[in-house]
Amino acid sequence: MEYKTSIRYRKKKLKQLLQCINKYENEIVSALYDDFKKPEFEAIVTETSFVISDLKHTLKNINKWSRPKRVFPSLLNFPSSDYIINEPYGKVLIIAPWNYPFQLAFCPLIAAVAAGNQVVLKPSELTPNTSKIISKIVAEVFDTNHVEVREGGIEIAQQLLHQRWDYIFFTGSVAVGKIVAKAAAEFMTPVTLELGGKNPCIISADCNVKLTAKRIIWGKFLNAGQTCIAPDYLLVDSKIKPKIVAALIDEIQLAYGENPELSGDFPRIINNKNWLRLVELLKNETILYGGQTNENDNYIAPTLLDEPKLESGVMKEEIFGPILPILSYDNEQEIESIISHYEKPLSLYVFSNNTAWTKKIMNTYSFGGGCINDTVIHFSNKRLPFGGVGNSGIGAYHGQLSFDTFSHRKSIVKKANWLDLPFRYAPYKNKINLLKKLLNWF
Ligand code: NAD
Repeated sequence: MEYKTSIRYRKKKLKQLLQCINKYENEIVSALYDDFKKPEFEAIVTETSFVISDLKHTLKNINKWSRPKRVFPSLLNFPSSDYIINEPYGKVLIIAPWNYPFQLAFCPLIAAVAAGNQVVLKPSELTPNTSKIISKIVAEVFDTNHVEVREGGIEIAQQLLHQRWDYIFFTGSVAVGKIVAKAAAEFMTPVTLELGGKNPCIISADCNVKLTAKRIIWGKFLNAGQTCIAPDYLLVDSKIKPKIVAALIDEIQLAYGENPELSGDFPRIINNKNWLRLVELLKNETILYGGQTNENDNYIAPTLLDEPKLESGVMKEEIFGPILPILSYDNEQEIESIISHYEKPLSLYVFSNNTAWTKKIMNTYSFGGGCINDTVIHFSNKRLPFGGVGNSGIGAYHGQLSFDTFSHRKSIVKKANWLDLPFRYAPYKNKINLLKKLLNWF
């Protein structure tokens, strides 16, 4: 149980993990390509480098984060010294999704290990090559009674969920998040649920059209739209809609060429089941651009849709693919009625040069996190908590918050014996007035 008691041991393991990830970086990148043609650049930026940077940040700060924290004692307890101990929860289950299969498995794992827990990780069955390399790295670095990978599908996940855990960290869909929450409730196990949602992206008439289009196309079609915080649909001021549509098309062509199927920078849909689901969403919709598909390769072109109805399939659920519906608005009430039609999203984006208006939007709607004049990038700041609200999730992580997520904060009051004020002890007779005075002071 050295992993529980010794920070030095945790650091040793995290350093070994860092060396091992560096050693296998090429294999990891190849595995991600084999799973769904994730481009090397995206694999490095959003998976391996992201994890390496997280590891380095954790190693740099683990002493500070794990130290007991003194707090100012309550005068009511005088004389005492009060502090908080970060205690590992114990046995932690991490269930990961397939869309960023390396990052979303390892970032929670690093934090759980740093906080002194024993970990079982279940990676996604939909990215078997990445899962295999994850297993290999974990087996090379950790003893199985410290960190273990359990590969497999829903059946394995359900077997694991039937067991008793001290913490469950789940990243995936809202539907499975509910299953996880129910299983956790059986044992009163605390959870983090990192889920998804329909993320609006509001574009006002006073935005910088070219830059807006560039940043939206990047955030939407990164990972072929299979990103939990990708803009799900656009809400564009009708006055500039034609300009925005033209700029979006330009940016798709600049990024992926005339035929994105030939671009090495555009991934594929994860499997045939998701490909069929997405192709179904295109039926009966007006396609402004794209729309080409190829079942042999699970390919769907970056696609822009014109004004789908809120009742249509594409506007009913999180899209999670390279399809971008463009809706227009004429006034703020229309924005409000569309956004409030949905559960609280994981992200919200707004593009405008009007600072007061963007501030108002940010304060009006409830969502996990977001950006003004950009998309997705809030994810990359370790000082910003990352997580959903309401239907898009419970809890948040990144940076120190990741360490805190996997630590129980135990409050301790160390009372001194040199003084023992008699006031709190019975008999209470004649003490009420003094009590009221004291309570007024503090
Ligand atoms: P998913 O919910 O289908 O699967 C996630 C994990 O749960 C996998 O390991 C899978 O094996 C397991 N699982 C699936 N069905 C299960 C069941 N019935 N019982 C128990 N376990 C089960 O999600 P996915 O398709 O892998 O990922 C896509 C979803 O994840 C999207 O909704 C996306 O928004 C969300 N997501 C959220 C974040 C975030 O950080 N908030 C990040 C990535 C993805």
